[in-house]
Order: sequence, then C-alpha cells, then structure tokens
Amino acid sequence: MKAILFDEFGGPEVLRYGDVPDPVAGPGDVLVKLKASALNHVDIDIRDGVSRFDFEMPHILGIEGAGVVAALGDGVSGVGVGDRVAVSYIRTCDDCEWCNRGQDNLCENRRLFGEHIPGTYAQYVVAPASHCIPIPDQVTFADAAASLVAFGTAWHGLVARGDLTLGDTVLIHSVGSGVASAALQICKAAGATVIATASSDAKLDRATADGADAVINYTTTDVNEAVMAFTRGRGVDLVFDVVGGDAFRKSMFVMRPYGRLISIGAHAGEVVDFDIIEFFRRHISYVSSHTQTRDELRHVLELISRGTLSPRIHSTYPLSAAADAQRELASRGAYGKIILEIPD
Ligand SMILES: [Zn+2]
Repeated sequence: MKAILFDEFGGPEVLRYGDVPDPVAGPGDVLVKLKASALNHVDIDIRDGVSRFDFEMPHILGIEGAGVVAALGDGVSGVGVGDRVAVSYIRTCDDCEWCNRGQDNLCENRRLFGEHIPGTYAQYVVAPASHCIPIPDQVTFADAAASLVAFGTAWHGLVARGDLTLGDTVLIHSVGSGVASAALQICKAAGATVIATASSDAKLDRATADGADAVINYTTTDVNEAVMAFTRGRGVDLVFDVVGGDAFRKSMFVMRPYGRLISIGAHAGEVVDFDIIEFFRRHISYVSSHTQTRDELRHVLELISRGTLSPRIHSTYPLSAAADAQRELASRGAYGKIILEIPD
C-alpha cells in the first residue's frame, strides 16, 4: 500500500510517500481501507522527535481515519465488509479495569494509532472490530475523520470532565484549533455564552459566524481586561485551554469562584507558574482531560448526522502532499481541520 513514512526525525522534508506491505487483520481485527485522514499538531511533535512516544522506524503518522471495511480477521462479528466506519484511534485491550468500566480511553494497555503504532496516513489500517464506529449515512468520510479528535476531545473535556452547564460563560483560548473550534460549537449547543481568543481577525470572524458571543485578538488586546469588561467584572465559569503556557497561567485571574480550568494541551508551554493562593481562595478546579471514550465518539458522530454539530474543514490535500499539509498546519493559519484524501 501507499503510505507517508519517515525514517528519521526532522522537518516536513523527512516525510516520504512510499510503499509498504498491506497490513493483515489478525483474530478479532478488521482491515479498513481508508478514505480520509486528518492532521493533528501531535503529528508534527512526533515527526520532530519531541513527543515522548516510543515507536519503530520507519513510522506512519496519523491518528484519525475513516473508510470502508475491506476484510475481516477470524472471529469477527458485528462488522461486515463494506461497512463505512471511523476508527477509534486508541487501541485498547478491552480487558483491563478501565476498559471494563467503559472508560476505555484510560486503558492500562492502550496504544495510539500514529503515536505508538502505524497510523492513518496510509491506504489501509488494521483495528479491532470493536474500535470501528459506524458512520451515519449523512456523514462524509472527511467529516468523520475530522471529528474524532476535535469533537471527541472537546466533548470529553467540556461535558464528561468539565461539567458544562446551561448558562455557563466559557473562555476558549486559540479558537482556531480543531479541538477549540469544536468546543465552541458544543458550548453554543449547550446554551453557554462563549468568549473566544485567536491570533488573527480572520479566525475570529469564523468564530463569530459559529456563534461566539465575544472575540478577542490576543496579539493586540489584553485578554484578561477584555474578558472582565465583557462579563462586567463577573469573570467566567469555565476556561477551555488547548495551549497551556501564558494563557493557562493568566486564566486563573478571570475565573469566578467554583470555576473550572479545563486543560487539554500545552503546545505554548508545558511548565508554568501557578498561583496557589488565587487557586484555593476562590475554589477553582483544575480539570485535566485527554482523548475520549468510544461511546463518546459514537455520540458526537450522531450529533453531526443530526446537524447539531458541524466539522470545520479548512483545507484538503492528497495523501502524497502530507508534507505541504503539515506546513500549513504549522503556519497556524487554519480554522478547523486539515484533511488528507486517501487514493483508491
Ligand atoms: Zn484496557
């Protein structure tokens, strides 16, 4: 099969479009012929060599994928050849304490496609049958691939972990990212008021079109002053932070008592000063969140099929041009997701 491979860490130039043997579905697995994959910032971290994941070279990137079941391994039931499926990117054991609780994203033996094992920048991927989420008829392969990380992660952080509530005011940092733009839609569907930040007016215009009640260009405006002015000194109930660094550190000072600071990423800084006094005097909660369960993936795909949520796709590249797609992602000009179309 064709795949995007790399043999050494480095910039986008290390990615090569090459041939590798087709994977084979073992017992309980299915072979999925991919139609669409989607980019994530972690792909770039892995390619650069700063991800802290262990994997073998040459490696195939790609967390998200959607396609058609092409072959079944022994003992597979409930999935048929030709089914349209999205592949949950967390390969779990389905046997540990967390898997048995339905919290499979915390599986003790998990391995992530594209992070620990070969990913979806490829024509085929092998996954356990239980990891194949049916794609509703109304949802395209591109929309399905664009939704797993973005809507799945945002849903888990806001709803399962952050207790998003009707009437909450939510500050969403760097709203142009795939996960943050999805968080905006979930917050609006849940009846929240949203303040969104971004580095460009173009991204803020997109956020306004998606329902943001107030927008702040953080390159030209003091975010905390603007948040306190918009909320008339009240502050926010929730912060949804995909970036870490300064945004995380300063958020403490615009949160109401009982506010929840949901942290799902730290590309702008993994280690920050933390004002403990502000934190405990106002009963602020730090809420950590990572990935999502397969049940949550089914749920967000259902909401997309109903039109409640709608993936935002910024651009689409052929698989062979994955390096160019990553260059665009790294330029941080995108609003929403960048998709790879997989050739037949
Ligand atoms: Zn497990």
